[in-house]
Amino acid sequence: MAPDVQSLPARETELNSLKIQRALPHRQRRMVGAWCFLDRYGPLGFTSEKAMDVAPHPHIGLQTVSWLVQGEVVHHDSLGYEALMRAGQLNLMTSGRGIAHSEETPKTNSGTLDGVQLWVALPDSDRDVQPIFDHYASLPVLDFTAGTVTLIAGTMLGHSSPARTFTPLIGADIAFRSNEPMLLPLNPNFEHALLVLHGHVFLDKRPFVGGSLQYLGTDRDELHLAGRAGSRVLLIGGEPFKESIVMWWNFVARTRDEIAQARADWIQHQRFGEVKAYAGPRIPAPELLEVARSVRDR
Ligand code: MN
Repeated sequence: MAPDVQSLPARETELNSLKIQRALPHRQRRMVGAWCFLDRYGPLGFTSEKAMDVAPHPHIGLQTVSWLVQGEVVHHDSLGYEALMRAGQLNLMTSGRGIAHSEETPKTNSGTLDGVQLWVALPDSDRDVQPIFDHYASLPVLDFTAGTVTLIAGTMLGHSSPARTFTPLIGADIAFRSNEPMLLPLNPNFEHALLVLHGHVFLDKRPFVGGSLQYLGTDRDELHLAGRAGSRVLLIGGEPFKESIVMWWNFVARTRDEIAQARADWIQHQRFGEVKAYAGPRIPAPELLEVARSVRDR
């Protein structure tokens, strides 16, 4: 019998007027493997306004994973990379010791925006690496009778995402074309979670919809899914992250002092460099009051 599923409601928030559903971190569940942040935005349509406009801001100790169901986002960073991302493509930024970037809707666009932004915590051994940005124009797509599985990160059924990762993990976008069962193998050493992006999805024949992260725990070696045609669900998972992290603003660190230093460096234009391609001011650092600490609960 499959272990219990924990349903964790995402909370509504805003990112520069873009409405967000934040599924991670959650009060009851700070991480799933090394995945430590999950924002869902859209679907939305727009005409003249810029749907996404996230001005330059810094990151340390993590990777940002940008993934679109629909629409376009252009990335610029302080290394000088520019990357236009469309649905099905992956923008992966490894902040290492420090980088700054902006993400915005490009001038030429489809008038739609629908996607997710995730962060992956870097392990202690790699969190001070040199920053690097990777754009993957295409990813492995596994074909099933019931639909497709696009591998954002990790390995499934002998296929591997080219995405550069630092801990064992999986990320996949599952799209249903017919309401037939889809049986996917899972690594039982991983913990996993699902977030419905569109439509109605069934796990072990039980229905669930968007708005909540479904945490599946560890010890599952199979995923029994089904979904109505057009439904989409995001799968994330990984080896439970053994290190205790602190998260504050856009930073993942181990101590409050590291956070305070990164904040000071951003204010003083140190360490992160400038995002020269972005037209406009950068995001100021907020006041440092509390930092959120993740302590593994087992
Ligand atoms: Mn960012």
